[in-house]
Amino acid sequence: MYGLTPEDLELQGRARAFADELIPHEEYAEAHAGELPADVAHRLEARAVELGLTATNMPTEVGGRGLSLFQQVLVQEQGGRVTNALAWCLTTPPAWWPEVANDHQRDTFLIPTVEGRREECYAITEEYAGSDVSDLQATAARDGDDYVLNGVKWHVTSFNKADYVLFQAVLTTGEHAGEQALFVADKDAPGISVVRDPAYTHTIAHHHPVVAFEDVRVPTTQLIGSEGDGMSFVYEWFRFERLMVATRCLGAAERLVDEMTAFAAQRDVGGDRLADKQLVQGMLADSLTELFAARTLVYEVARALDRGLDLKVAHAQCSMAKLFSSEMAGRVADRAVQVFGGRGYMRENVAERFFRELRVERIWEGASEVQRVIIADQLGKRGRARLV
Ligand SMILES: Cc1cc2nc3c(=O)[nH]c(=O)nc-3n(C[C@H](O)[C@H](O)[C@H](O)COP(=O)(O)OP(=O)(O)OC[C@H]3O[C@@H](n4cnc5c(N)ncnc54)[C@H](O)[C@@H]3O)c2cc1C
Repeated sequence: MYGLTPEDLELQGRARAFADELIPHEEYAEAHAGELPADVAHRLEARAVELGLTATNMPTEVGGRGLSLFQQVLVQEQGGRVTNALAWCLTTPPAWWPEVANDHQRDTFLIPTVEGRREECYAITEEYAGSDVSDLQATAARDGDDYVLNGVKWHVTSFNKADYVLFQAVLTTGEHAGEQALFVADKDAPGISVVRDPAYTHTIAHHHPVVAFEDVRVPTTQLIGSEGDGMSFVYEWFRFERLMVATRCLGAAERLVDEMTAFAAQRDVGGDRLADKQLVQGMLADSLTELFAARTLVYEVARALDRGLDLKVAHAQCSMAKLFSSEMAGRVADRAVQVFGGRGYMRENVAERFFRELRVERIWEGASEVQRVIIADQLGKRGRARLV
């Protein structure tokens, strides 16, 4: 099915088997604020490396696996079958970095991240700049051989696990003043502090605190690319991560279809199996059909990107994939809770966990409304025939 080669099938099978190793730890994680015992977590992280499932998006020159985008999709899809972010050990370091990293960045940050020895987090969003990242207030000023960074960032995912931060700011000095630039800073650099660490809907070990940067000094070697390049990295990140959000939603929907189908087949209500009740069959059939449609879409977008799709068209197609797949997974999770009935409302149930966890897929990396705006804009500019 889906034209998978023997090599693709082997990779998919390897990723699937690893996801199946993670699944038995979900309930423990749910009951322990998303954390696994340290020895278990380290063993699973090491296993992901050993199986060749980490840094799949990184070129081999920096120690990555050098997989095609389609193959990366096959891996991340399996990770999507697991709740509580346990599959985040299937790392995908910043894909735009190898091309622009200077020697200092390569040796100090990038290669250790590819090897799983360091971890990054992104500080872009602010209280008044989320959907519209062109509206950032954070600043970066050149001062001798340093830049001085200031700003308050929201939702900095993995700040508690990471040891360095990618910080996006508006330049206030030089010929690119007013444009954005991206910097890398060690998390323990003087001036970086957690303002607060709010609880979120899901139960995962990675927190999303509000983080303040007050006169944080970084050497000029920690400017990524050139002054004014900041937005190009954001756009590249969005294209990649929107496709990966879409991909993980496929995995989640597949798991939910499998779990609700198995439950409906054995649950007896009023002398009939649930699976024989036509209203329940409707929920199963709609979920399966929508999963098939989303998977076909996501696989086609990944393959088109591997074939060298025009970047503007790619931007629109990644938005379509994220929009459709995240909305689909949300509907499937809602139906799965319904099929499980009261059991579906218990945190020990996979449908309950996905029902909460999948909600953010329609918000982060651009809310569904933002994806629609992008798609409609591209339709107006390029016309239907270039896009689908
Ligand atoms: C759990 C979590 C983790 C995150 N991790 C990170 C991270 O690691 N790093 C980081 O930098 N950011 C992170 N974010 C931020 C995330 O990317 C933003 O929350 C998201 O882009 C939406 O921005 P916002 O929250 O400011 O919503 P707003 O921009 O305030 O938008 C609110 C709502 O308005 C609507 N809307 C917005 N724009 C439009 C429009 N043009 N047309 C129509 N409707 C619109 C949408 O429905 C949207 O949901 C994270 C967020 C969450 C919830």
